Amino acid sequence: MSRMGETPMSPTGETPVSQSGHSRGRLFHGPQAELDMKKKPRYYVGVDVGGTKIQATLAEESGKIIGRSRASTPRTGKPDDTIMAIIKLIRGVLCENELAAGDVRAIGVAVPGVVDPDRGRVMLTPNTNLSHTAITPKIARAFRVPVCLGNDANCGILGEAWLGAARGARNAVGIFIGTGIGGGIIINGQLIRGCREGAGEIGHMIVVPDGPRCGCGLHGCLETVAGRLGIEREVRQAVKKGQKTILTKLTGDLSVIRSSLIRKALKKKDKLVTAVMDQAVKHLGAACISLRHLLDPELIVLGGGLVEACEQWILPPVRKAVKAGTMPGVGNAGKIVAAALGDDATAMGAIVLAQQLVGKKPLKETGAGKA
Ligand SMILES: [Zn+2]
Repeated sequence: MSRMGETPMSPTGETPVSQSGHSRGRLFHGPQAELDMKKKPRYYVGVDVGGTKIQATLAEESGKIIGRSRASTPRTGKPDDTIMAIIKLIRGVLCENELAAGDVRAIGVAVPGVVDPDRGRVMLTPNTNLSHTAITPKIARAFRVPVCLGNDANCGILGEAWLGAARGARNAVGIFIGTGIGGGIIINGQLIRGCREGAGEIGHMIVVPDGPRCGCGLHGCLETVAGRLGIEREVRQAVKKGQKTILTKLTGDLSVIRSSLIRKALKKKDKLVTAVMDQAVKHLGAACISLRHLLDPELIVLGGGLVEACEQWILPPVRKAVKAGTMPGVGNAGKIVAAALGDDATAMGAIVLAQQLVGKKPLKETGAGKA
């Protein structure tokens, strides 16, 4: 996690309150006022920077959400525009709730792509304009609070482990299926970062050697066969070969097939879409079995737009596959569960990073590791 842009704070992390009753330029009268000041809740902001929208979530230390603010992700190609949009959004959510920057303890920002949290730098992000940009120092300067940076899927599982489907689990894996597939791994209450922040890229585990080319440049990554773009590709190829689908009527040129439309087709028992989904789920199930054997997690959390829209066609067959495919003698851990926080997971996970940055431990690190 990042230490970039951290402003000086007391070792306990509390805002210093002087004996005379002065604190951050405000005058307090008597011991009662000082007590009130100490009791005053401290807030955290988690920002989820997506390819199409940015969401800033304001929450109490307990995770209770106080407010949310959303805006479109700037398409200008200038990283500073996106950083300004993030700053504006944070200001907006604070203003709406009659809070000032001084009420915020720390801010966490989640970005889709490869990040260097120690430098607060986004290394590569294909879906936003923030590649090769240090973003946390500018945000820290704007609010004078500590700011940290994380990968969006890593934040997704952190959020789910804090307050969602993996709450209380010490070992959990998150697989978030949307356009592509993001992943995150928590072992013993700690996010697995790897030696270069590259761990947990479950979407880029190769499941079909020599399979379809992936956005990462490799072939046969899980996301090429089980992500929404992979499903789109299979449907288009089959239609080209003469197969019929209700989607042709629903979308016309099939250039973009949203998760909601995939759901509609599945609901109407569309033969082609059902077959393509079955194949995608087969690959996903196999990946979950491998993860189960590799990491022995208490839970595998499946989330993201495609899972939210098509849960009933994904969760039961994956559960069945994992149950049937687990090595004998290793018990029945590795439960497959649906994510519970929806759009809030990533921002809440960014708040977990923000809390860890200032020395808090929102995630359970000890206790029974049984499923
Ligand atoms: Zn890949």
